[in-house]
Amino acid sequence: MKIYNTLTRQKDEFKPLEEGKVSMYVCGPTVYDYIHIGNARPMIVFDTVRRYFEYKGYDVNFVSNFTDVDDKIIKKAIEGGIDASVVSEKFIEEAKKDMTALNVREATKHPKATEEIDGMIEMISTLIEKGHAYEKNGTVYFKTRSFEGYGKLSKKNIDDLEAGHRDIKVAGADEKEDPLDFVLWKPKKEGEISWSSPWGEGRPGWHIECSVMSKKYLGDQIDIHAGGEDLIFPHHENEIAQSEAANGVEFARYWMHNGFLNIDNQKMSKSKGNFFTVREIGEKYPLQVIRFFMLSSHYRGPINFSEELVMAAKTGLDRILTAVSNLEYLYDNAKLENITDEEKATLEEFVEFSNRFDTAMEDDFNTADAISIVFEMVRVANAKVTSDNSKEFIESVKGTIDVLCDVLGIETKVEKEILAEDIERLIEERQAARKEKNFARADEIRNELLEKGIILEDTREGVKWKRA
Ligand code: AMP
Ligand code: ZN
Repeated sequence: MKIYNTLTRQKDEFKPLEEGKVSMYVCGPTVYDYIHIGNARPMIVFDTVRRYFEYKGYDVNFVSNFTDVDDKIIKKAIEGGIDASVVSEKFIEEAKKDMTALNVREATKHPKATEEIDGMIEMISTLIEKGHAYEKNGTVYFKTRSFEGYGKLSKKNIDDLEAGHRDIKVAGADEKEDPLDFVLWKPKKEGEISWSSPWGEGRPGWHIECSVMSKKYLGDQIDIHAGGEDLIFPHHENEIAQSEAANGVEFARYWMHNGFLNIDNQKMSKSKGNFFTVREIGEKYPLQVIRFFMLSSHYRGPINFSEELVMAAKTGLDRILTAVSNLEYLYDNAKLENITDEEKATLEEFVEFSNRFDTAMEDDFNTADAISIVFEMVRVANAKVTSDNSKEFIESVKGTIDVLCDVLGIETKVEKEILAEDIERLIEERQAARKEKNFARADEIRNELLEKGIILEDTREGVKWKRA
């Protein structure tokens, strides 16, 4: 399996640290509002990466944090006259609802920054002891030049960075020893949430959170660290500096970054009025369509979100779902039970599709190609499968499509709502059965309806029904 590694700027062969296991950390959202449609992209992409590893038999330890202490959260709390935790807890719950609707599976662990402060104080202390950090009036800074590999992820040259920062130093804007140094711990400001530390009351910087949560839940060294491409610099560069300086081992072996999502070819921004939350989009389209839309492009490229493109994705997804539902119908109506030799030969084609799907995914998770293979399967299924085929064969064809869709997180089981006319017909049939004293059949019908969420009530005016 090949993964494009931002660290090496090439597709590297994936070799896990431990046979059969994958440890993965994905930087999660800052929870000061509903998640936006851009935040949904890393969630969907890396959930799919996880699903593929699991499909291949790996045991995946998938950790994704919630940043629940940050300037924006504090600002919102102060404005509303409420605790920062009230803001963050609410939006963690809302983010989880959106993730479920996007069919993003819950992580093995979703740590929250505010619950990991002790670990952060410990790592900052280690960095000070090792000479990689220093304190000035309650602020602790990381001594960037003390870490030799600084710039290796973003391919930035430390001297060029220094040149860009010189003006700040001249202006004496802060007390850093070097303009390149970044904050690990900052002192409390009036009215802000804070924790006690050896450097006084304060709170952690953003970068240290991920270094600490990754270490605690996955260990000093992990297989994959991921996030959106905006995080490469400075967030991930700083995480590498902190973790490697503190732990003395290489941090993550593979760094994966998704491209950005733009709206109608423009950067999404609140001021431009082209900013959408997942919740808003969910009112216009089923979120499964959004997932399918995002996976229809390669994760590393930019993606353009427009009504037209989403509708095209919807048409494509409907084609797959209709084919699966037809297969279900054919299965129910098939008379033959066991697979024939001729059918066995046709199934070979489906095995071949499955292999090609894997090949696409193993080439840096090319979900766009993987989806086109699912379309080919659907075309063949539509052309070749009829109710003259055996149940075993139809089930196999449908099973292959289901499994591959599941790797992409696409749910093929769409509960069809039972229509009122079908309910009325079954009620009539039940009344007839009762008249004939065929109570077994009458009960069977009642139960069948119940399974579909229809409750029958026998009243004096006749049978009434309602949806549960
Ligand atoms: P944030 O809450 O801004 O820290 O973002 C959480 C995650 O969403 C990070 O991995 C970001 O890189 C990612 N992200 C934010 N905006 C976009 C966007 N427009 N397109 C794709 N990914 C994004
Ligand atoms: Zn992070």
